[in-house]
Amino acid sequence: MDKRQRDNFSSWWQERILWDVDMAAYSTLRAGGRAAALVDVHSREELRYLLGRLEAEQISWRVIGLGSNILVSEQGYPGVIIRLQGELKEITPQAGNDEPGGSVVIMAGAGCSTAALVSWCTRHGLTGLEYLAGIPGSVGGAVRMNAGAWGHEIGERLHEVECIDYSGRLFRVPLSGLTLSYRRLALKEGDPERMVIVSAAFVLEAGDAGLIRRRCRDYLERRRGKQPAGVASAGSFFKNPAGDFAGRLIEAAGLKGVRCGQAMVSPVHANFIVNTGGATAADIVALMHLVRKGVFKRFGVRLEPEVQIF
Ligand code: FAD
Repeated sequence: MDKRQRDNFSSWWQERILWDVDMAAYSTLRAGGRAAALVDVHSREELRYLLGRLEAEQISWRVIGLGSNILVSEQGYPGVIIRLQGELKEITPQAGNDEPGGSVVIMAGAGCSTAALVSWCTRHGLTGLEYLAGIPGSVGGAVRMNAGAWGHEIGERLHEVECIDYSGRLFRVPLSGLTLSYRRLALKEGDPERMVIVSAAFVLEAGDAGLIRRRCRDYLERRRGKQPAGVASAGSFFKNPAGDFAGRLIEAAGLKGVRCGQAMVSPVHANFIVNTGGATAADIVALMHLVRKGVFKRFGVRLEPEVQIF
Protein backbone atom coordinates (compact mmCIF):
# COMPACT_ATOMS: atom_id res chain seq x y z
CA MET A 1 0.00 0.00 0.00
CA ASP A 2 1.48 3.36 -0.93
CA LYS A 3 1.00 6.56 1.09
CA ARG A 4 -2.00 7.75 -0.94
CA GLN A 5 -3.75 4.38 -0.57
CA ARG A 6 -2.99 4.36 3.18
CA ASP A 7 -4.39 7.86 3.63
CA ASN A 8 -7.53 7.07 1.66
CA PHE A 9 -8.11 3.78 3.47
CA SER A 10 -7.54 5.51 6.78
CA SER A 11 -10.07 8.21 5.97
CA TRP A 12 -12.93 5.80 5.30
CA TRP A 13 -12.22 3.04 7.83
CA GLN A 14 -10.47 5.12 10.49
CA GLU A 15 -9.98 3.79 13.98
CA ARG A 16 -11.01 0.25 13.04
CA ILE A 17 -7.78 -0.43 11.20
CA LEU A 18 -4.91 -2.24 12.86
CA TRP A 19 -1.72 -1.18 11.09
CA ASP A 20 1.49 -3.14 10.60
CA VAL A 21 0.19 -6.32 12.17
CA ASP A 22 2.35 -9.22 13.31
CA MET A 23 0.52 -12.10 11.62
CA ALA A 24 2.10 -14.69 13.94
CA ALA A 25 -0.71 -13.77 16.32
CA TYR A 26 -3.32 -14.76 13.71
CA SER A 27 -1.86 -18.09 12.61
CA THR A 28 -1.90 -21.37 14.53
CA LEU A 29 1.72 -21.81 13.38
CA ARG A 30 2.46 -18.82 15.66
CA ALA A 31 4.76 -17.51 12.94
CA GLY A 32 4.45 -15.14 10.03
CA GLY A 33 5.47 -11.83 8.57
CA ARG A 34 3.60 -8.57 9.04
CA ALA A 35 0.50 -7.40 7.20
CA ALA A 36 0.13 -3.76 6.24
CA ALA A 37 -3.35 -3.66 7.82
CA LEU A 38 -6.04 -5.83 9.38
CA VAL A 39 -9.75 -5.08 9.73
CA ASP A 40 -12.70 -6.90 11.24
CA VAL A 41 -16.04 -6.59 9.46
CA HIS A 42 -19.31 -7.29 11.23
CA SER A 43 -21.96 -7.41 8.51
CA ARG A 44 -22.55 -8.08 4.83
CA GLU A 45 -23.09 -4.38 4.24
CA GLU A 46 -19.74 -3.46 5.82
CA LEU A 47 -17.98 -6.12 3.80
CA ARG A 48 -19.59 -5.01 0.53
CA TYR A 49 -18.55 -1.44 1.20
CA LEU A 50 -15.03 -2.42 2.20
CA LEU A 51 -14.39 -4.66 -0.82
CA GLY A 52 -15.83 -2.10 -3.23
CA ARG A 53 -13.57 0.63 -1.81
CA LEU A 54 -10.47 -1.56 -1.72
CA GLU A 55 -11.07 -2.49 -5.34
CA ALA A 56 -11.55 1.14 -6.35
CA GLU A 57 -8.29 2.07 -4.60
CA GLN A 58 -6.53 -1.00 -6.02
CA ILE A 59 -5.52 -2.12 -2.54
CA SER A 60 -4.89 -5.86 -2.33
CA TRP A 61 -6.78 -7.88 0.29
CA ARG A 62 -7.10 -11.38 1.68
CA VAL A 63 -9.75 -12.84 3.93
CA ILE A 64 -8.73 -15.21 6.70
CA GLY A 65 -10.67 -17.36 9.11
CA LEU A 66 -8.99 -18.63 12.26
CA GLY A 67 -5.57 -18.91 10.63
CA SER A 68 -5.19 -22.67 11.01
CA ASN A 69 -3.96 -23.15 7.46
CA ILE A 70 -2.09 -19.96 6.60
CA LEU A 71 1.40 -18.57 6.75
CA VAL A 72 2.23 -14.97 5.89
CA SER A 73 5.70 -14.97 4.36
CA GLU A 74 8.67 -13.24 5.95
CA GLN A 75 8.41 -10.32 3.47
CA GLY A 76 4.91 -9.65 4.81
CA TYR A 77 1.61 -8.97 3.08
CA PRO A 78 1.34 -5.48 1.58
CA GLY A 79 -2.47 -5.23 1.64
CA VAL A 80 -5.43 -5.60 3.99
CA ILE A 81 -6.28 -8.77 5.90
CA ILE A 82 -10.03 -9.12 6.52
CA ARG A 83 -11.70 -11.13 9.30
CA LEU A 84 -15.40 -11.87 9.64
CA GLN A 85 -17.20 -11.11 12.90
CA GLY A 86 -20.66 -10.18 14.22
CA GLU A 87 -23.59 -11.33 12.07
CA LEU A 88 -21.09 -13.16 9.87
CA LYS A 89 -20.69 -15.70 12.69
CA GLU A 90 -24.36 -16.54 13.17
CA ILE A 91 -25.95 -19.96 12.66
CA THR A 92 -29.61 -20.12 11.62
CA PRO A 93 -31.90 -23.02 10.75
CA GLN A 94 -33.39 -22.50 7.28
CA ALA A 95 -35.94 -25.17 6.50
CA GLY A 96 -36.65 -28.85 6.82
CA ASN A 97 -38.22 -31.70 8.65
CA ASP A 98 -36.83 -32.29 12.11
CA GLU A 99 -38.54 -35.69 12.54
CA PRO A 100 -35.86 -38.41 13.02
CA GLY A 101 -34.10 -38.96 9.69
CA GLY A 102 -35.63 -35.82 8.12
CA SER A 103 -33.45 -33.40 6.18
CA VAL A 104 -32.77 -29.98 7.66
CA VAL A 105 -30.96 -27.08 5.99
CA ILE A 106 -28.97 -24.75 8.23
CA MET A 107 -26.98 -21.66 7.33
CA ALA A 108 -23.70 -20.92 9.10
CA GLY A 109 -21.88 -17.61 8.88
CA ALA A 110 -18.39 -18.03 7.44
CA GLY A 111 -16.82 -16.38 10.49
CA CYS A 112 -18.29 -18.96 12.87
CA SER A 113 -15.82 -21.56 14.13
CA THR A 114 -16.26 -25.14 13.03
CA ALA A 115 -16.17 -26.07 16.73
CA ALA A 116 -19.19 -23.81 17.37
CA LEU A 117 -20.95 -25.30 14.34
CA VAL A 118 -20.36 -28.88 15.50
CA SER A 119 -21.54 -28.06 18.99
CA TRP A 120 -24.64 -26.21 17.65
CA CYS A 121 -25.51 -29.25 15.50
CA THR A 122 -25.05 -31.56 18.48
CA ARG A 123 -27.31 -29.42 20.65
CA HIS A 124 -29.96 -29.37 17.94
CA GLY A 125 -29.68 -33.09 17.23
CA LEU A 126 -28.44 -32.65 13.66
CA THR A 127 -26.08 -35.20 12.19
CA GLY A 128 -23.69 -34.98 9.23
CA LEU A 129 -20.76 -32.83 10.33
CA GLU A 130 -19.40 -34.77 13.32
CA TYR A 131 -16.09 -35.53 11.57
CA LEU A 132 -15.29 -31.80 11.73
CA ALA A 133 -14.73 -32.25 15.48
CA GLY A 134 -11.04 -31.54 16.05
CA ILE A 135 -10.48 -29.63 12.80
CA PRO A 136 -9.73 -26.09 13.91
CA GLY A 137 -10.79 -23.05 11.91
CA SER A 138 -13.86 -21.23 10.65
CA VAL A 139 -16.72 -22.29 8.41
CA GLY A 140 -15.39 -20.03 5.62
CA GLY A 141 -11.90 -21.54 5.86
CA ALA A 142 -13.30 -25.07 5.98
CA VAL A 143 -15.48 -24.49 2.91
CA ARG A 144 -12.70 -22.78 0.94
CA MET A 145 -10.30 -25.62 1.81
CA ASN A 146 -12.97 -28.32 1.48
CA ALA A 147 -11.70 -29.48 4.84
CA GLY A 148 -12.23 -33.06 5.82
CA ALA A 149 -11.14 -36.06 7.80
CA TRP A 150 -11.89 -39.76 8.20
CA GLY A 151 -13.12 -40.16 4.64
CA HIS A 152 -15.47 -37.16 4.70
CA GLU A 153 -15.21 -33.63 3.29
CA ILE A 154 -17.33 -30.61 4.17
CA GLY A 155 -18.38 -30.33 0.52
CA GLU A 156 -20.51 -33.47 0.90
CA ARG A 157 -23.02 -31.56 3.00
CA LEU A 158 -22.97 -28.23 1.17
CA HIS A 159 -26.22 -26.93 -0.21
CA GLU A 160 -25.08 -23.48 -1.34
CA VAL A 161 -22.59 -20.77 -0.49
CA GLU A 162 -23.17 -17.07 -0.22
CA CYS A 163 -20.33 -14.87 -1.46
CA ILE A 164 -19.39 -11.24 -1.90
CA ASP A 165 -16.97 -10.53 -4.71
CA TYR A 166 -14.27 -7.89 -5.10
CA SER A 167 -16.77 -5.38 -6.47
CA GLY A 168 -19.10 -5.73 -3.48
CA ARG A 169 -21.67 -7.89 -5.32
CA LEU A 170 -23.51 -10.36 -3.06
CA PHE A 171 -24.63 -13.62 -4.66
CA ARG A 172 -25.47 -17.23 -3.87
CA VAL A 173 -23.93 -20.22 -5.58
CA PRO A 174 -25.85 -23.51 -5.49
CA LEU A 175 -23.96 -26.80 -5.21
CA SER A 176 -24.17 -27.19 -9.02
CA GLY A 177 -22.07 -24.02 -9.40
CA LEU A 178 -19.24 -25.34 -7.21
CA THR A 179 -16.31 -27.58 -8.06
CA LEU A 180 -15.15 -29.47 -5.01
CA SER A 181 -11.94 -31.40 -4.98
CA TYR A 182 -9.32 -32.49 -2.45
CA ARG A 183 -8.71 -29.51 -0.13
CA ARG A 184 -10.11 -27.05 -2.61
CA LEU A 185 -13.36 -25.37 -3.50
CA ALA A 186 -13.64 -23.51 -6.77
CA LEU A 187 -16.56 -21.76 -8.41
CA LYS A 188 -17.55 -22.75 -11.93
CA GLU A 189 -17.74 -19.01 -12.64
CA GLY A 190 -15.46 -16.51 -10.96
CA ASP A 191 -12.14 -16.57 -9.18
CA PRO A 192 -12.46 -17.80 -5.57
CA GLU A 193 -9.43 -15.70 -4.63
CA ARG A 194 -11.40 -12.59 -5.53
CA MET A 195 -14.41 -13.30 -3.35
CA VAL A 196 -15.30 -13.83 0.26
CA ILE A 197 -17.54 -16.66 1.40
CA VAL A 198 -19.98 -15.06 3.85
CA SER A 199 -22.09 -18.06 4.72
CA ALA A 200 -22.64 -21.67 3.79
CA ALA A 201 -25.85 -23.70 3.89
CA PHE A 202 -25.59 -27.38 4.80
CA VAL A 203 -28.06 -30.24 4.43
CA LEU A 204 -28.09 -32.30 7.62
CA GLU A 205 -30.33 -34.96 9.12
CA ALA A 206 -32.25 -34.97 12.35
CA GLY A 207 -30.71 -37.55 14.66
CA ASP A 208 -30.15 -38.49 18.27
CA ALA A 209 -28.19 -35.84 20.19
CA GLY A 210 -26.54 -38.41 22.50
CA LEU A 211 -25.33 -40.48 19.55
CA ILE A 212 -24.05 -37.39 17.74
CA ARG A 213 -22.13 -36.31 20.84
CA ARG A 214 -20.55 -39.78 21.18
CA ARG A 215 -19.50 -39.71 17.50
CA CYS A 216 -17.83 -36.30 17.97
CA ARG A 217 -15.98 -37.60 21.05
CA ASP A 218 -14.89 -40.65 19.08
CA TYR A 219 -13.46 -38.49 16.27
CA LEU A 220 -11.61 -36.33 18.81
CA GLU A 221 -10.27 -39.43 20.54
CA ARG A 222 -8.96 -40.83 17.26
CA ARG A 223 -6.82 -37.71 16.79
CA ARG A 224 -5.11 -38.08 20.16
CA GLY A 225 -1.72 -39.68 19.87
CA LYS A 226 -1.73 -39.46 16.07
CA GLN A 227 -1.05 -35.72 15.98
CA PRO A 228 1.47 -33.61 17.89
CA ALA A 229 -0.30 -32.01 20.86
CA GLY A 230 0.41 -28.72 22.60
CA VAL A 231 2.66 -27.41 19.85
CA ALA A 232 1.99 -24.79 17.15
CA SER A 233 1.27 -26.15 13.67
CA ALA A 234 -1.08 -25.78 10.73
CA GLY A 235 -2.07 -29.45 10.73
CA SER A 236 -0.93 -31.42 7.69
CA PHE A 237 1.50 -29.16 5.88
CA PHE A 238 1.40 -30.94 2.51
CA LYS A 239 -1.46 -32.37 0.50
CA ASN A 240 -1.42 -36.13 0.13
CA PRO A 241 -0.28 -37.05 -3.38
CA ALA A 242 -2.66 -39.32 -5.34
CA GLY A 243 -2.62 -42.83 -3.88
CA ASP A 244 -0.15 -42.07 -1.09
CA PHE A 245 0.37 -40.11 2.10
CA ALA A 246 2.68 -37.14 2.39
CA GLY A 247 3.52 -38.18 5.97
CA ARG A 248 4.59 -41.68 4.87
CA LEU A 249 6.86 -40.27 2.15
CA ILE A 250 8.43 -37.69 4.47
CA GLU A 251 9.08 -40.29 7.14
CA ALA A 252 10.47 -42.80 4.64
CA ALA A 253 12.79 -40.10 3.29
CA GLY A 254 14.27 -39.92 6.80
CA LEU A 255 13.04 -36.39 7.46
CA LYS A 256 11.22 -36.83 10.78
CA GLY A 257 12.73 -34.49 13.37
CA VAL A 258 14.65 -32.45 10.78
CA ARG A 259 14.84 -28.75 11.64
CA CYS A 260 15.40 -25.34 10.09
CA GLY A 261 15.87 -22.86 12.90
CA GLN A 262 12.96 -23.42 15.29
CA ALA A 263 10.76 -25.18 12.72
CA MET A 264 10.79 -28.96 12.88
CA VAL A 265 9.23 -31.92 11.07
CA SER A 266 7.22 -33.40 13.90
CA PRO A 267 8.59 -36.67 15.28
CA VAL A 268 4.94 -37.65 15.99
CA HIS A 269 3.47 -37.07 12.51
CA ALA A 270 5.87 -36.37 9.64
CA ASN A 271 3.36 -34.27 7.71
CA PHE A 272 3.20 -31.73 10.53
CA ILE A 273 5.72 -28.89 10.54
CA VAL A 274 5.77 -27.61 14.10
CA ASN A 275 7.01 -24.39 15.61
CA THR A 276 9.13 -25.43 18.57
CA GLY A 277 9.18 -21.82 19.84
CA GLY A 278 10.12 -18.66 18.01
CA ALA A 279 10.23 -20.12 14.47
CA THR A 280 10.03 -17.47 11.76
CA ALA A 281 8.09 -17.75 8.52
CA ALA A 282 11.49 -18.03 6.82
CA ASP A 283 12.38 -21.08 9.00
CA ILE A 284 9.10 -22.76 8.04
CA VAL A 285 9.44 -22.00 4.33
CA ALA A 286 13.07 -23.20 4.35
CA LEU A 287 11.97 -26.46 6.00
CA MET A 288 9.14 -26.82 3.50
CA HIS A 289 11.65 -26.58 0.62
CA LEU A 290 14.01 -29.00 2.33
CA VAL A 291 11.22 -31.56 2.77
CA ARG A 292 10.00 -31.15 -0.81
CA LYS A 293 13.54 -31.60 -2.10
CA GLY A 294 14.17 -34.66 0.09
CA VAL A 295 10.96 -36.39 -0.95
CA PHE A 296 11.47 -35.56 -4.62
CA LYS A 297 15.04 -36.86 -4.55
CA ARG A 298 14.01 -40.12 -2.88
CA PHE A 299 10.65 -40.83 -4.54
CA GLY A 300 10.32 -38.44 -7.50
CA VAL A 301 7.10 -37.07 -5.94
CA ARG A 302 6.48 -33.32 -5.81
CA LEU A 303 4.65 -32.48 -2.60
CA GLU A 304 2.33 -29.49 -2.77
CA PRO A 305 1.72 -27.45 0.38
CA GLU A 306 -1.81 -27.51 1.75
CA VAL A 307 -0.95 -24.49 3.89
CA GLN A 308 -1.77 -21.25 2.09
CA ILE A 309 1.34 -19.08 1.99
CA PHE A 310 0.95 -15.44 1.03
P1 FAD B 1 -7.50 -19.94 7.36
O1 FAD B 1 -6.30 -20.75 7.75
O2 FAD B 1 -7.72 -18.66 8.07
O3 FAD B 1 -7.55 -19.75 5.80
C1 FAD B 1 -7.32 -20.85 4.94
C2 FAD B 1 -7.65 -20.42 3.50
O4 FAD B 1 -9.05 -20.17 3.39
C3 FAD B 1 -6.96 -19.12 3.08
O5 FAD B 1 -6.65 -19.21 1.71
C4 FAD B 1 -8.03 -18.06 3.29
O6 FAD B 1 -7.85 -16.94 2.44
C5 FAD B 1 -9.29 -18.85 2.92
N1 FAD B 1 -10.48 -18.36 3.62
C6 FAD B 1 -10.70 -18.30 4.94
N2 FAD B 1 -11.92 -17.79 5.20
C7 FAD B 1 -12.48 -17.52 3.99
C8 FAD B 1 -13.72 -16.96 3.58
N3 FAD B 1 -14.65 -16.57 4.46
N4 FAD B 1 -13.95 -16.80 2.25
C9 FAD B 1 -13.02 -17.16 1.33
N5 FAD B 1 -11.83 -17.70 1.66
C10 FAD B 1 -11.56 -17.88 2.98
N6 FAD B 1 -7.69 -29.59 7.75
C11 FAD B 1 -8.41 -30.63 7.25
O7 FAD B 1 -8.98 -30.53 6.16
N7 FAD B 1 -8.52 -31.80 7.94
C12 FAD B 1 -7.95 -31.99 9.16
O8 FAD B 1 -8.09 -33.05 9.75
C13 FAD B 1 -7.18 -30.91 9.71
N8 FAD B 1 -6.59 -31.04 10.92
C14 FAD B 1 -5.88 -29.97 11.42
C15 FAD B 1 -5.30 -30.10 12.70
C16 FAD B 1 -4.61 -29.02 13.24
C17 FAD B 1 -3.99 -29.19 14.62
C18 FAD B 1 -4.50 -27.81 12.54
C19 FAD B 1 -3.77 -26.63 13.15
C20 FAD B 1 -5.07 -27.67 11.29
C21 FAD B 1 -5.77 -28.75 10.71
N9 FAD B 1 -6.35 -28.66 9.45
C22 FAD B 1 -7.08 -29.70 8.95
C23 FAD B 1 -6.19 -27.43 8.63
C24 FAD B 1 -7.23 -26.33 8.92
O9 FAD B 1 -7.76 -26.49 10.21
C25 FAD B 1 -8.36 -26.31 7.89
O10 FAD B 1 -7.88 -26.11 6.60
C26 FAD B 1 -9.38 -25.22 8.24
O11 FAD B 1 -10.56 -25.51 7.56
C27 FAD B 1 -8.92 -23.80 7.88
O12 FAD B 1 -9.86 -22.88 8.41
P2 FAD B 1 -9.43 -21.42 8.89
O13 FAD B 1 -10.65 -20.67 9.23
O14 FAD B 1 -8.41 -21.51 9.96
O15 FAD B 1 -8.82 -20.85 7.55
